[in-house]
This record gives sequence, structure tokens and C-alpha cells, in this order.
Amino acid sequence: MSGRDGRGEGDEGEMVGRVLVLNTGSSSVKYRLLAGAERLASGTVERIGEPGSPVADHEAALKIVATELADRGLGLDSPELTAIGHRVVHGGTTFTEPTLITEEVVRKIEELVPLAPLHNPANLAGIEVTRRLRPDLPQVAVFDTAFHSTISPAAATYAIDREVAERLRIRRYGFHGTSHAYVSREAAAAVGRPGGNVIVLHLGNGASASAVSGGRCLETSMGMTPLEGLVMGTRSGDLDPAVVLYLGRVAGMSLDEIDELLNRRSGMRGLCGDNDMRAVQERLAAGDRDARLAFSVYCHRLRKYVGAYYAVLGTVDVIAFTGGVGENSPLVRQTALDGLEAMGIAVDPARNARGERIVSPDDAAVKVAVIPTDEELEIARQTLGIISRTNRG
Ligand code: ADP
Repeated sequence: MSGRDGRGEGDEGEMVGRVLVLNTGSSSVKYRLLAGAERLASGTVERIGEPGSPVADHEAALKIVATELADRGLGLDSPELTAIGHRVVHGGTTFTEPTLITEEVVRKIEELVPLAPLHNPANLAGIEVTRRLRPDLPQVAVFDTAFHSTISPAAATYAIDREVAERLRIRRYGFHGTSHAYVSREAAAAVGRPGGNVIVLHLGNGASASAVSGGRCLETSMGMTPLEGLVMGTRSGDLDPAVVLYLGRVAGMSLDEIDELLNRRSGMRGLCGDNDMRAVQERLAAGDRDARLAFSVYCHRLRKYVGAYYAVLGTVDVIAFTGGVGENSPLVRQTALDGLEAMGIAVDPARNARGERIVSPDDAAVKVAVIPTDEELEIARQTLGIISRTNRG
């Protein structure tokens, strides 16, 4: 069974109907139209609101999407369209499941804007435009945080003053949840342990890890924001919080400057100047010392999280690599898991180099899998799941 055929835990029957999946970001809109698991159309509208761009705002961008679909005879007015599924970044503690969008839901997503000031407003703009274009059509919000809502208070709580934390909603939420949900399920199925214990390493430009048991997320590496955790393309990941105080007090940097430093000029870019892992690996192969340090910091952090999540889970059935780096870099997979044989973790060099679905040796206690993520398919599945549940009453 391939990772893209849309099957999962007996929900095949629910994968009927046509869903337009929209990922409306601050400067781009990505869309995919799916009939079940089949991709009918997809595309991206970029440079929204940038100087000199023909795409003035989200309304203009979504009209381009509507026109592109209509040109292929798949317009938004098509009676065959069952629903629209929107990616929404932050659901706070309000939304722990995909949710049919109503006025009240829109208002509650607005209340969460302070927690995701760049993302939620863009997501809302997408929702508002499509609701105006097709007011009769069911629309579903699928939250990036929802899959992580099952982490325990022990995992979710920062050890700071509780009154301050509660008043300001400071806690760990986690992100990339749609990907972690999809990949953990696919990985467990791929090794014949549906419902087993999975460590997912989602390594793209952003990167996050999760520990999943019986389909429930127990831990994840991103926190109140996507800055915490693994080393990323341009984000630092874990850092002594006092570094922020030091940058302010001693270096005299403003909060905006520190934000920019940690989110855009850190991670692999900060360490060696390149945020693209392909470029880092080319320089590494050519003996570049900065690239070597950057690569070793990246892999060391990953290994640390694998060890920590092994402890959280107690036993591990499969470690799943996904995202642009996780799916395509045998060197990252090999290096991050190097020396963990005593934990039952090993990578078979030939299988790893070929990027097979299972890259661990046959006799390994812990399987290592490469699972291409598919967030759009997962959003479509979850959207149809909500629609069919709603229809059943
Ligand atoms: P996003 O988080 O934006 O969705 P992706 O999941 O597409 O990003 O991952 C982008 C990252 O994947 C980039 O750092 C890119 O260098 C890396 N990548 C893509 N192909 C390869 C490859 N063959 N080897 C190593 N890294 C790769």
C-alpha cells in the first residue's frame, strides 16, 4: 500500500466527495482539489501584497485560485464540490478537532490571533473570502495544533508562574499536527503495528518531533510558538531563555530585532549561511568547516530528541522521517541515529541510500521508516470525516 492512496484505519468509505484544500499563508495561497485521494488540481499563488506584485491581497489571490479551477471546469460553483478544508495554524486550547466553520468559530479563531499574529489572520482571510463566494458550502477548519492537544499537563506546562501563564495562555501547543497525525498513522501501518509507538521527525524548513502512542500524541518539540525544539532552516530551536534577556540588556537589541534573529537568521542559516540542507551537504562534502558544525548541531539535537522521546514512550515500534530533509537526506537519517544500536535502533546503509520505505535492518527491534508527508490529503480526509459525521446527525 502506498502512502498516497488515502487509506487509513478503515475510513476508506469516508474518502468520497470532492474537497478543496486551502492553505492560506501570509504571502501565499496553496490549493489542492481532491476527489477522495485523487488530485484533480493544485497550485500556488505567491507574493500576495508584496510591492510590485499583481496580487494585491488574499481576496485577489483566492479569485485567481477560483479562476484557475474554473478554467479546468472545476470551479467553486461546481455542484460536485462537497466542502472546503482550511488549514488554520493556531487552535489554542479551544479547538482540539477539525471544526465546521460558523460565525462563532470565526470569532474564536480571531480570539487566537495574539498567539499566531502572522498566521491566523491570513487563514481567516481565506475563510472569509471563500465563505462569501460559496456561503452554502460546508467549510472546515483543520488546526495545526489539534493533534497535539492530547499531550499531558506535564508535557504542556512551562515551569513559570501559573497565574501569569494561565492569564496569557502561555503553554506548549505544538505545530505541524496534520503532518504528525498522517505520518504517525502511516508509519505504524507500514511496520504492521497500527496503534503502535511512533517517533515522528518532521524535517522541512520548519522541523518538529513528536511521540505518538495508540494514535495519541504524548509529546512534541514545538511549544507555544514554532520556535522551540529542533534546529531548523532559519530558526534556533531550543535556547536558554536568558539569551533573549542578554541580547536585550547587554547587546541593546529590540524585541523585534531578537525576533528576527531567532526566527530568520538562526538555525542552519545562522550557523553556516545556508538554510537549504542540500547546499549544506554539498559544502560538507567539500570539507567546509562551518557547514560541518551546522550539520553536527542539527543531527545532535535530533538524536537528543529521539532519546528523550524513547524515554517518554517506554518502547518504540518505529521512527519515521518525513519532510523535505527527512524524506530526501540519507545522511541526516544515518547521522542522527548513529550509535543507537544499544537502543535497538539501526539504519541499513543500502536501504537508506535507496530511500526505501523501511531503512532499518530486518532484525532491528525499532524500525526506521521514510514516510512522505501529505498534509493536504490529511486535511481533505479530516474535512470529509467532519462532513459525514455532521450529516449522520
Ligand atoms: P517546508 O517546511 O517549507 O514544507 P520542505 O518539507 O519542502 O519544506 O523541506 C525543505 C527542505 O528540504 C530544504 O531545506 C531542502 O534543502 C530540503 N531538501 C529537499 N531535497 C533534499 C535533498 N535531496 N537532500 C537534502 N535536503 C533536501
